[in-house]
Amino acid sequence: MSEPIINFEKVNKWYGNDFHVLRDINLQVAQGERLVICGPSGSGKSTLIRCINALEEYQEGKLTVVDQLLGDDLKAVDAVRRQVGMVFQQFNLFPHLSVLENLTLSPTWVAGMPKKEAIEKAMHQLERVQIAEQANKYPLQLSGGQQQRVAIARALCLTPKIMLFDEPTSALDPEMIKEVLDVIMELADGGMTMLCVTHEMGFAKAVANRVIFMDQGQIVEENNPEEFFNNPRTDRSKDFLSKIL
Ligand code: ADP
Ligand code: MG
Repeated sequence: MSEPIINFEKVNKWYGNDFHVLRDINLQVAQGERLVICGPSGSGKSTLIRCINALEEYQEGKLTVVDQLLGDDLKAVDAVRRQVGMVFQQFNLFPHLSVLENLTLSPTWVAGMPKKEAIEKAMHQLERVQIAEQANKYPLQLSGGQQQRVAIARALCLTPKIMLFDEPTSALDPEMIKEVLDVIMELADGGMTMLCVTHEMGFAKAVANRVIFMDQGQIVEENNPEEFFNNPRTDRSKDFLSKIL
């Protein structure tokens, strides 16, 4: 593998003094890879991906993202956050800002982009997720699927090198899941490096080049999607798949 864009080396994390939430995580992700992370609720999936854009700290080991060692260096944290986009289950749009303002806020305030340029970029991203005609609406005037597509467009406005998705369709009504997964699939086809926590196994099979299965804070299995879904290696992954498939 060429120099990984994300590199976890024996990373350990605790919540408080005694809840050991990530255990000896070793994980290398190359540019252009598409990883799906699955595992039971509470296994540490969100914590793991939140570490990648420094929304969570870790206590032991080394985590390097886009050539920045994440630790006490706040400049590294800033640099990483500008290059890593994240999309959450609950959209996390600013309800008091229009769709367009949601997209231009961070580029203008954080990245110092001139407003005109930020608006052009934002409109381009909204077109990409097929929602440009809603630019002047407020988030709560949109459907869940539309809001999530806006959240994806917002993350793309900083031209990230990595996209993190944490159960992006779990809060959506079933009929809206596909429109969001289609957008993510298109990004994957465009070569975006991405990590996605999802229980949508059909999507996982189609999008992933590698699947990681977590249980109790550990990566228990790492496999290619065909093998993982058809012939999982561990009892824990077999048990998990028997419950969700
Ligand atoms: P998953 O995304 O796989 O469901 P999480 O990473 O959200 O798992 O959580 C892993 C474990 O850590 C769970 O037991 C959860 O309750 C706990 N946890 C998550 N966030 C915190 C926090 N901020 N403080 C303490 N415990 C937490
Ligand atoms: Mg989670």
